[in-house]
Amino acid sequence: MCRHLGWLGEPVSVASLVTEPANGLLVQSYSPRRQKHGLMNADGWGVGFFDGDTPRRWRSATPMWGDASLASVAPALRSGCIVAAVRSASVGMPIEATASAPFTDGQWLLSHNGLVDRAVLPLSATAESTNDSALLAASIFARGLDALGHTIVEVAAADPNARLNILAGNGSRLLATTWGDTLSMLRRRDGVVLASEPYDDDPGWQEIPDRHLVEVTGAGVELTPLKGSS
Ligand code: GLN
Repeated sequence: MCRHLGWLGEPVSVASLVTEPANGLLVQSYSPRRQKHGLMNADGWGVGFFDGDTPRRWRSATPMWGDASLASVAPALRSGCIVAAVRSASVGMPIEATASAPFTDGQWLLSHNGLVDRAVLPLSATAESTNDSALLAASIFARGLDALGHTIVEVAAADPNARLNILAGNGSRLLATTWGDTLSMLRRRDGVVLASEPYDDDPGWQEIPDRHLVEVTGAGVELTPLKGSS
């Protein structure tokens, strides 16, 4: 399992979301508070953000806490749409930078918290790595993000043990699913944060119920239940 975070709103720095908060992704990399699977997230990290329409990424296969440059550069990376993650690789999955979220199809930045049997996912020539999250990302991209809820329900039907928390942004929309793991939302005056767990103790954090699709746009936040087979 991993922890991820997304932002949609006014341009803010990556540091303000990831490295500066008391319990931001940097701290969650070694001391997450709500993680149900895995103890820490030491197998890599990724920060993705939109630079105009262009998604840009900085990914690594090493622990976020050990990076020599992130603390220096993160205050200068500013964007209105950010998707970042720290990774705890599942057993048997490769540990390499290309296996760290966010994944991209050139339009979306996408992260997966969870585990899915790779045998239920279609083979993909475009997957960035061979871990389950990269294969799942490729099949979500192939179906299109407008079908995200359907894709998650279908994958869950094929693998009833799957945990499928997705977070994806394209610059003007932030989409997330809850399927087996935690997700919280903070509505701020300058934008909306979706995160696997709160990055601080602000009482404004709301927990998103399991098996839901969340869509954040400039117009607001929409929550839709996902109907599964069980
Ligand atoms: N199954 C994921 C992987 O190994 C685990 C990390 C995560 O929750 N995305 O890639």
